[in-house]
Amino acid sequence: MPQAPASVDIIFRLLRELPETTRTDLVARTGLSKATVSETIAQLLANDLVTETGKRQPGRGRRQVLLQLRNGSRLVIGAEFNEHGCRAVLADLRAGPVRFADRSFTSAEPEDFVNALEECVAELRAVATAPVLGIGIGVPGLVDDAGRSVAISVPFNWRDVPFAALVEERTGLATTIANRAKAAALGEYWQGSPSDLADRSHLAYITAGAGIVAGFVIKGDPYYGHVGTAGELGHTTVEPDGPQCGCGNQGCLYMLASESAIVRHVREAHTATPVHVRASHPPLDMHDGITIDDLSVAMKDGHPLVVQAIERAARYLGIAIGNLINIMNPSHVVIGGSLAAFGDVLLVPLRAEIQRRSLWDARNRLSIAPSKLGDDVGPIGGAALCLSRVDSSRMIHPG
Ligand SMILES: [Zn+2]
Repeated sequence: MPQAPASVDIIFRLLRELPETTRTDLVARTGLSKATVSETIAQLLANDLVTETGKRQPGRGRRQVLLQLRNGSRLVIGAEFNEHGCRAVLADLRAGPVRFADRSFTSAEPEDFVNALEECVAELRAVATAPVLGIGIGVPGLVDDAGRSVAISVPFNWRDVPFAALVEERTGLATTIANRAKAAALGEYWQGSPSDLADRSHLAYITAGAGIVAGFVIKGDPYYGHVGTAGELGHTTVEPDGPQCGCGNQGCLYMLASESAIVRHVREAHTATPVHVRASHPPLDMHDGITIDDLSVAMKDGHPLVVQAIERAARYLGIAIGNLINIMNPSHVVIGGSLAAFGDVLLVPLRAEIQRRSLWDARNRLSIAPSKLGDDVGPIGGAALCLSRVDSSRMIHPG
């Protein structure tokens, strides 16, 4: 495969970020020579990656040909694993979804995951009308720097699972993996809001659910930290003498605002409530397997213990996010995960707490909003992850 020069990477990146551009724009933005830009665009045109869409006349200057990326000329597959199954998407060069596929599974063995993903991939490849460049996968857990192995996944009890290699063996497609919140942050960056990408220059995506993790995208690039643990928001301290956490610390956000923490809190409050008071509440069956979805129903019925537990979790989450805002100074904070489904019962106290805990300058021009992508953010993030790592020579010559 011929090696593409760095200029192709630079120009390709701009073509993905800008809805349309011109050769003159590209020269101005990149500092590359006119000849290099023309040559690179010629190569991209010849390989169907770019199209000329019309002309624009800036002031009294010469008319310039408008260039647009051909989004659908190459495709990728993105996937996310959660506790119930695999959700995958066939996506274009801006991680825009073309088709989704879902499989559920009952065990947490890596082999079952790979089987479920293989079926999704076969279903999506069957409808692909352009070359598929690779697969990006969001997994719950810590992933090695190279995006090849799951170092540790607490929900699935995995250690050192060479997941990317397993998927490549089955599908023959280049595979890269990342923590699912970190992949989802890239999905939010590319597909989360209709506003200009340049607007979302410092994005923090926070998934709050079974775990609480933040993913960061800085000027289009994911930020993973020195060894990949950036964004472990769930293990930041929000209560110095709070409950003991599995990570070794006390009073972690995870112990006070995750799904399991909310369920635990409702259960404790329910037990402590006198029977005659309980009788005045809407019905709530505190069986052993109660889930966050059951609590969501109870919240909609206005169950006071459930509403209080969500508000309490929102406060802790607000303290942690307020700290994050002061440290990172993001342009956008996007809230996803199962807790986002609590809507204003969560978001109103969360915003109030952020207001109390963060500097005015840091939050003044900050957007805080729930994710609009919902459950789609995971697979779309996987697609964006794949695109962030695929090199342009493969893009040009997918082989
Ligand atoms: Zn912890």
